[in-house]
Amino acid sequence: MLGDRDGSMAQLLITGGAGFLGSHTCLVLLEAGHQLLVLDDFSNSSAISLERVAELAGVPLQRDQPTLKATPEAFTLVEGDIRDTQCLDALFASAKAFGQPIDAVIHFAGLKAVGESVQQPLRYWDVNVVGTQRLLTAMNFHHCRTIVFSSSATLYGYPHPNQIPIPETAPIQPINPYGASKHAAEALLADLAGCSGKPEPIQASSGGWRIARLRYFNPVGAHPSGRIGEDPNGIPNNLFPFITQVAVGRRPELTVFGDDWPTPDGTGVRDYIHVMDLAEGHREALHSLLNSDPQLLTLNLGSGQGASVLGVVKAMEATSQRAIPHRIAPRRPGDAAITVANPTLAAQQLHWRTQRSLTDICRDGWAWQQDNPNGYGEACL
Ligand code: NAD
Ligand code: UDP
Repeated sequence: MLGDRDGSMAQLLITGGAGFLGSHTCLVLLEAGHQLLVLDDFSNSSAISLERVAELAGVPLQRDQPTLKATPEAFTLVEGDIRDTQCLDALFASAKAFGQPIDAVIHFAGLKAVGESVQQPLRYWDVNVVGTQRLLTAMNFHHCRTIVFSSSATLYGYPHPNQIPIPETAPIQPINPYGASKHAAEALLADLAGCSGKPEPIQASSGGWRIARLRYFNPVGAHPSGRIGEDPNGIPNNLFPFITQVAVGRRPELTVFGDDWPTPDGTGVRDYIHVMDLAEGHREALHSLLNSDPQLLTLNLGSGQGASVLGVVKAMEATSQRAIPHRIAPRRPGDAAITVANPTLAAQQLHWRTQRSLTDICRDGWAWQQDNPNGYGEACL
């Protein structure tokens, strides 16, 4: 059974649904026939992404308040903060009052910049840990006990070379406040499931909780339409948006952080996963939870393939037919040499694996960057 009410459609709360990963996942979930309530405070996004998701899905975007003035339609947007308990309670209670109780939550809302987390650890713990705890409290009170949580491969810290590709059972050793906040939220979810301190990635859970902790590797790219994509604030910290901004002429050159890593070409290796593959992974994780006994799943979402910095530069040069000027600089503090997922468990458990290649990632990311050189900033709908 999907959801608590009928066989095909669930009422879902998507926190942080206007962001990069949330917007693409909203589209996939709308296409799967679900009804979505998005809660976002727009601290790192705008409603334009969701207007475009609505256009791609062919449904109207309804805007409402946490108290819901109207029956939720297929796609409803509510502005609010996950730390606001009144807002959360109003949302769960009103959806129920309209006969559409929230069946499950996909929890993307959070802060994600490693460097910023070092400067502002209290803020990161507040949003990522306190915010998650308040969301879970509201869910528990309103008897909604199914959640897909955005975790991160950053939990693996500096993985040991013997553990590449990284299995879910690899040691958890966060090396910055962002990673620590994700670790704390993961621990809270394990406590709720009655699985405290148990390392197995698939466990029966107690108290009716169905939980998926999805550890993302490096999500990049964009929807193939070029209408939605990643829109980082200011100078991108991450490789992929930096490269596309160099290719489009918004930045003069890429700085390559180290060419003396123990990797084939000396530059850092990562597991880049197309954002649409990641979005489909969420759909499959949700369906798996809704159709199973209460359990706690902990799964890597990655391709299992590594690409080096220079490999990504070459792939983007081939796609864009433009040179990407770059210069080698010292290693960036806190970087690991290689981070690549072992994606076997997700394949077994969800019957999901990545479908799209680095070439697809570059093609779609480049289309988004070309059509939206300033992201959503100066966008007309
Ligand atoms: P994003 O910043 O684009 O999206 C996050 C969304 O949450 C934004 O729309 C933001 O406005 C919203 N938000 C932030 N704080 C909020 C609050 N207090 N209340 C309500 N809304 C709030 O980030 P993303 O790349 O889409 O990442 C989504 C999730 O996935 C985050 O939890 C992030 O830590 C995690 N994650 C991301 C990556 C990545 O590389 N993008 C990798 C691993 C994990
Ligand atoms: N990187 C780089 N220049 C940049 C940004 C990143 O050389 O401007 C490298 C970085 O050192 C790492 C890889 O690109 O080897 C991926 O970095 P990103 O920040 O995108 O992801 P993460 O390090 O969080 O996996």
